[in-house]
Amino acid sequence: MFKHASLSECLAGGGLVLAVVLAAPVLAEDATAKPEAAMTGANDLLNATLWMQRSVEYKANSMAVFALGKIRLDEELADKTASAMDQSDAGDLPPAVILDLDETVIDNSAYESGLVTTNSDYSSKTWDEWTKAEKAKAVPGSLDYLKYADEKGVKIFYVTNRKAGQEEATKANMKALGYPMGGNVDTFLMRDEKPDWTSDKKTRRDFVAKDYRVVALFGDNFNDFTSEAEGSIDEREAAFDKMKDHFGKDWFMLANPTYGSWESSAYGDDFKLSNDEKRKMKVKALQPWTPTSGQ
Ligand SMILES: [Mg+2]
Repeated sequence: MFKHASLSECLAGGGLVLAVVLAAPVLAEDATAKPEAAMTGANDLLNATLWMQRSVEYKANSMAVFALGKIRLDEELADKTASAMDQSDAGDLPPAVILDLDETVIDNSAYESGLVTTNSDYSSKTWDEWTKAEKAKAVPGSLDYLKYADEKGVKIFYVTNRKAGQEEATKANMKALGYPMGGNVDTFLMRDEKPDWTSDKKTRRDFVAKDYRVVALFGDNFNDFTSEAEGSIDEREAAFDKMKDHFGKDWFMLANPTYGSWESSAYGDDFKLSNDEKRKMKVKALQPWTPTSGQ
C-alpha cells in the first residue's frame, strides 16, 4: 500500500522523499463515531499533521517568523549592499524577495490530514487533484508580511516545485486568499516551466537575482535556500554550519514536520527502500537516552 512517493518528491526538490505512512494495526475502538475514525490507524504523520492543522503553537511560530521578516526587510531595504544571495553590485537593482509556496506561504495540511484519515499515501494524482481544488489556506503571518513587502515596492517571487500545469490553479487559489500577484511580471516560477527550472531551485533563484537585489528568502526546506541541502544528516549539518548566519537575518525557515529532505536524509535518500526499511533507518538516526532502571 505504500507505493507512492510523498509530497516531498514534487515539492522538496532534488529528491524522492517518501512520506512515512506506516502500516499499523487499525484501531478498533469507536469506529462509529465519525466516518474518518474507522479509517484511522497508527500513522507516523498524525502528530505532525495535527500540529500544523489544529495547534495555536504552529500559528504562533509561523507568525513570529514573518514578524521578524518584516523587521529585517526594513533593515535590508535601508542597506543597499545587503543581499540574501550574497550578490555584489546589486545596489542599483530593485529589491525582491523569494518564497517557496507549499508549507511556506500556503498551507496544504488538509491534504496531509486526508492521507492520515484515509490511511493512504501521497500520489501525484491526488496531489494534482488537491492543487486543482484550490483549497490551500494561508500560512499564518505570510499574508501580512507579503502585503507589507508589496506596499514597500518589493517584488515578490514565488519559487515553487508545483509544476507548470498547476500554475493557473495555484494563482487562482492565492489570488482568492489576497496574495500579491506580481502585476505584469510572471512572479510564479514553477518547476519545469523552463527546461533548466528543475526541482533544484538554484537556477530560478539565479534567474531572479539577474534583475533584482534579493533581500530575503523564505522556505520550509533547506533546499529552498541552497543546493547543498541534499546528502547525509552530517553533510547537511556541515552545510548548515557554513550558512547559519543567514537564518533570522535574511533567510527564514518555516516549520514543517510533515515532510521534507530532513526526513529522506535519515535513510540516505535511498528511495528504493521499503517504508519499513526507511522507518528502521529513521529510528537508527535518533540519538536516544534510555534509563538504566528499567521501564
Ligand atoms: Mg515547501
